[in-house]
Amino acid sequence: MSTPHVKPVSVRARALAPLWGVLLVLALGWNQAAAAVEAADHSESAARLRLTEAPLQAVSAEFASYWIETEHMADVPRASHWQPVEYATITAGPQSRPVWFRVPVVNATRHTLERKLEVRWLNIDGVDFYLQRASGREHQFLGFDDPRGLVPVPGSSYEFSLTLLPGEQADLLFRVSTQYFSFLPLYIWEPDAYATQQRQVHGWYLLGFGALLSLLFYNLSLGILVRDRAYLLYCAYVVSILIYELAFNGMGNAYLWQGSVWLHKNGLGLGIYLSFLAGTLFFREFLNIGAYSLWLQRMVDASLLYWVVALLALFAFDRFFQSSIYMSMIVCVFALGGSLYLWYLGNPLAKVYLLAWAALLFFTVLMLLMITGIVSHHPLTEHGQMIGFVTEMVLLSFALATRIKLERDQREQAQQQALRLQLDINRERENTIEAQQQVLLLEKQNNQVLEQRVAERTLELQEALGHLSAANEELARLTVTDPLTGAANRRHFDEVLDQEIQRAARTRQPLSLILIDIDHFKQLNDQHGHIAGDECLKRFADLLQTMINRTTDLVARYGGEEFAIILPQTHQEAAFTVAEKVRLAVAAMGFSFKGQVIPITVSLGVVGLQPQPGMSVTDFVDAADNALYAAKHTGRNRSVLAQAVS
Ligand code: GH3
Ligand code: MG
Ligand code: MG
Repeated sequence: MSTPHVKPVSVRARALAPLWGVLLVLALGWNQAAAAVEAADHSESAARLRLTEAPLQAVSAEFASYWIETEHMADVPRASHWQPVEYATITAGPQSRPVWFRVPVVNATRHTLERKLEVRWLNIDGVDFYLQRASGREHQFLGFDDPRGLVPVPGSSYEFSLTLLPGEQADLLFRVSTQYFSFLPLYIWEPDAYATQQRQVHGWYLLGFGALLSLLFYNLSLGILVRDRAYLLYCAYVVSILIYELAFNGMGNAYLWQGSVWLHKNGLGLGIYLSFLAGTLFFREFLNIGAYSLWLQRMVDASLLYWVVALLALFAFDRFFQSSIYMSMIVCVFALGGSLYLWYLGNPLAKVYLLAWAALLFFTVLMLLMITGIVSHHPLTEHGQMIGFVTEMVLLSFALATRIKLERDQREQAQQQALRLQLDINRERENTIEAQQQVLLLEKQNNQVLEQRVAERTLELQEALGHLSAANEELARLTVTDPLTGAANRRHFDEVLDQEIQRAARTRQPLSLILIDIDHFKQLNDQHGHIAGDECLKRFADLLQTMINRTTDLVARYGGEEFAIILPQTHQEAAFTVAEKVRLAVAAMGFSFKGQVIPITVSLGVVGLQPQPGMSVTDFVDAADNALYAAKHTGRNRSVLAQAVS
């Protein structure tokens, strides 16, 4: 038959290989394992699988041999081409050419056997199945191939029919179109058992999808309720993983987009790109990377740009980027390292994220080990990735709740702190108010005391001032008064006379002065004693006081038994009249002492004139004194008017 055109690289295989090519490093041990298997295979490479009545027979690698198609030799290989399979599963390792597998079988029963051949691996583009028997060769094809188009896969596996007569031998030949893992997990089923198993497998898948959908709707409603972008990104992540899983395990091909060549080819790539894009966006938002490390965020942004470009390219060029293989590896390691670093930086959510990511990575690694033939085909290795996704999503859902709780705790803490601060402030304020009130009270008390003291002091002061002014008055009186007679003293006389001279000179008013001397006073002292003399002086002064009428008139003791009367605004005639009145009154007074009447007389000198400016007290007194002198020398008991004074 003609060689099928070698179609573009299988999208699924290409996508998967890189994803987990991380582990090719791990697979250093692969070579050793492979070597061990190889030794066993060589001896049994020709073994023929005996088909029995058993409803299921898993075909182990020991029965399989393979051949990698060359460009020149694209037909069914010759017997010499076949190589024993060297791995724990039927695989030829990573290959870019179509790979042929051969499994020789024999119907070991006595019946005709109707069997289903299941290739439980959809991530290859297409499979040609040839049943090579003595009578001829039968051919069936499933999958996509350029000239032949798409032959839809009826379930979640590639399945072919096989009928063998009792004891009949045949070779099962498979031509697998793929560029990377030429993986051929092969099961031979009794048809009813196969149908049952398919239902069961679908049941498990549905369970997985159900779990993912529940998480999707649960978190979607939460996200809408709490208006948190991280929730919505989580939901986008779940949707993208649903797309990936639908493509990966064939459920999408079988039930959703049956017949769509584009999705058959690109569904897995689409799922991978979308899940990396949404997963990275979620990683960025959920761990709030920008707040912890700016360079980490820049790297995340750069990877985001890459996934956007790759996704656009998938739509534009209908092909999966070869470089996505390496990018996937880098991002897987990066997500591990990044979340570890964020954990180290103290991000409280990094731990949970790491756990969730590790869960997915663990099962993915397990699957990879299966594809590469290191571990055998097993439900856990086969469907582990779905478990990984569900585990990751459940953990991330918890993490989202934790995040909300953390934020709420932080908010509550902040609120409590604010409340505590408010309480502190209130307490402080109360204390301040109390202190202020105390101060006010004290001030009030102090003021009262102070006011009282001030009042007391004021009273005392007023009293003291009263005393002082009385004392001053007394002092003033004493300084101008002659102590014996109570008349003005000599000093006061001089002052008053000087003032009156000035005033009279200014106002051009007359001023008069009378000097009075008691006659023979020495004799009175001598005859009656000084006491009598003093008494006489007092009586005489009192009499003089009664002789003046104007308040401006002044009686003064000039010295010894000499007195003076200042008479402002008084002409000399009037003054002389006053002098005469005094002389007559004294003569009439009759001074009595100890029952004895002692007659006294006085001589008076009168001066009266209008003083000139610059006239002195001495000038004035001298004039009066001269008149008095004249009175003495002309017989005493008389008044003499002074001569005109120039
Ligand atoms: P004449 O008529 O010439 O004035 O004679 P006289 O005795 O009055 O005058 P004289 O000047 O000789 O004497 C004045 C006397 O006045 C002398 C003195 O003892 C007396 N005398 C002066 N001051 C006081 C005084 O304060 N009390 C008493 N008791 N006698 C006084
Ligand atoms: Mg005298
Ligand atoms: Mg005398």
